[in-house]
Amino acid sequence: MNTVPNAPNGNEGGLPASLSVLGATGSVGRQSIEVAERHRIPLDLLSANVDVAGMEKLARLCMPRFCVMADEAAAKDLSVRLGDTGITVRGGADALCETIREANSPVTVNAILGEAGLLPTLACVSLGRRLALSNKESLVVAGEIVKAEAKKTGCEIIPVDSEHSAIFQCLHAGRKSEVKSILLTASGAPFRGKTREELEKVTLRDALAHPTWKMGAKITVDSATMMNKGFEVIEAVHLFDVSPDAIKVVVHPESIIHSAVEYIDSAVVAQLSTPDMRLCVQYAVTYPARLPGLTRELDLFSVGSLNFYPPDPDAFPLLPLARRAIALGGGVPAVLNAANEVAVAAFLSEKIGFTDVSRIVCETVEKLTGRRDAKTVSELLDADQEARSVAVSLY
Ligand code: NDP
Repeated sequence: MNTVPNAPNGNEGGLPASLSVLGATGSVGRQSIEVAERHRIPLDLLSANVDVAGMEKLARLCMPRFCVMADEAAAKDLSVRLGDTGITVRGGADALCETIREANSPVTVNAILGEAGLLPTLACVSLGRRLALSNKESLVVAGEIVKAEAKKTGCEIIPVDSEHSAIFQCLHAGRKSEVKSILLTASGAPFRGKTREELEKVTLRDALAHPTWKMGAKITVDSATMMNKGFEVIEAVHLFDVSPDAIKVVVHPESIIHSAVEYIDSAVVAQLSTPDMRLCVQYAVTYPARLPGLTRELDLFSVGSLNFYPPDPDAFPLLPLARRAIALGGGVPAVLNAANEVAVAAFLSEKIGFTDVSRIVCETVEKLTGRRDAKTVSELLDADQEARSVAVSLY
């Protein structure tokens, strides 16, 4: 996997001839389309799951060659709606992977939510082209496999997640052997400073009120529980080949420093900007070139001050749990992810309370540590399925 920031094989970057966007109807997907529109990049493929109305609008706006809905019934509906356009519409998870290969875009943005992004990630990787990866769950569930496949095909995986985009940029300042640690910043989301007892009383509405980022509902809850930061530790381990111990989480409520790299001479190189995923998407698409884009410039005078705090592992146990999961390895991170998907979905539909999310995820992981033996994709997907059943039984 080429995540070391050198221009690959003389590639000077810039605008690709075309782009595919997976998870196009979501928060990152729509922002990716804004980037494509801004730079007039033609779209090969747009995908979503069930949001037919959203996809129809995007398809009419962008006129991609292909639209794929993971849900077959949604695909049928879309196919009727887009009957006058000449766009090829397909349905099903297998069709998505086949169409990714057929579209063969020079760059594919994977902004699918959750473990459902894994097989599409592997399909992109098999092309040996560029994957702009927002779907962090692919790396949480099967980081070793994704990495090994990317190495085989020469696929460049460029991170879209803002922290990993920042780290990727900061790694330009030195050699890999000179890196001492990675400072992974976290906003602290709405519940920074709250105790475990206080978290018992928070509501879904409170959890969805992220102070600095406007994101999809699931990642907003993951930010509130700090599961998101735990996933990002795992993501960084895989993307940058660093040990988990070399990754320090720093709570930084303003979300201006998106992460930093500390070098052996004690220099710390950070990346700053106004929080805007369109910058991360654009950089992943045009790297190593930089182009003017849609992001408002950073006015440090209006920001005024930047603050930093250590994370609280007692109030937010999912962050240390992620470290335990990666230390156990094998299928345990897949179990962690699957239990979290189930618990967050239950919280979003108000079946459980906020602190039940961490309880269910912790208990599921503890029950399934034996899944550390899982290695292949099918073993990891089995671990995922078992974790879902266990997690459901816990609420
Ligand atoms: P959203 O929930 O806003 O969008 C998710 C997208 O994935 C939608 O297009 C959805 O389709 C599609 N999708 C959902 N389930 C499936 C499935 N089973 N098969 C195929 N497609 C599916 O998510 P976000 O944009 O917030 O997040 C996307 C990814 O990016 C996540 O991995 C997240 O962690 C990561 N990320 C997001 C950031 C953000 O700012 N939002 C920041 C950094 C990372 P439909 O609309 O039809 O349901």
